[in-house]
Amino acid sequence: MNNYQLPHLAYPYDALEPYFDRQTMEIHHQKHHQTYLNNLNQVLEKYPQLAQRKLEDLLRTPPASTIDPKDLTFFKNNAGGYLNHNLFWQILGPQKETDANLVAEIEKAFSSVDEFKKIFAQAAISHFGSGWAWLVRTSEGNLKVYSLPNQDTPYQNNDTPLITLDLWEHAYYLKYQNRRAEYVENWWDVLKLL
Ligand code: MN
Repeated sequence: MNNYQLPHLAYPYDALEPYFDRQTMEIHHQKHHQTYLNNLNQVLEKYPQLAQRKLEDLLRTPPASTIDPKDLTFFKNNAGGYLNHNLFWQILGPQKETDANLVAEIEKAFSSVDEFKKIFAQAAISHFGSGWAWLVRTSEGNLKVYSLPNQDTPYQNNDTPLITLDLWEHAYYLKYQNRRAEYVENWWDVLKLL
């Protein structure tokens, strides 16, 4: 039985202040992320055969024939919620740890980091409702920006996620309320990769 765990954050909950506040970080990690994880482990317990495969592979090629459709949706939402948050915490940090290779790739694809930021912010701000904004590498090796609803993941498009921003209100409501654009703008300061 593959029992997934809540990842330990590499920084304290208040490390991203004043951009991401301590209380939001704590609730986001301990409550929201934990709930996706608990639900994921619960459905894997019901279908132990799924626990043999990597979550990313299961999301790329959903095991539609071996799992009840309702459970499959539940699995997809919670495996997505678990993986999306794992990546989200990983790419944040109180200090910049610029990824020179990624920067070079972004400059090649979008002409400049600033131009990329504009495109990404536009995707994030204009996304309706809950979801995530993504920078992905496609299976052809190209960089692409888009948003997806709910806890959907780029794996379903056969893409590899590189950067992501949580657009659920639980990610910003305490500090920013309805001001998603301000949250997106401030996020660049805690995204350590660029
Ligand atoms: Mn979230």
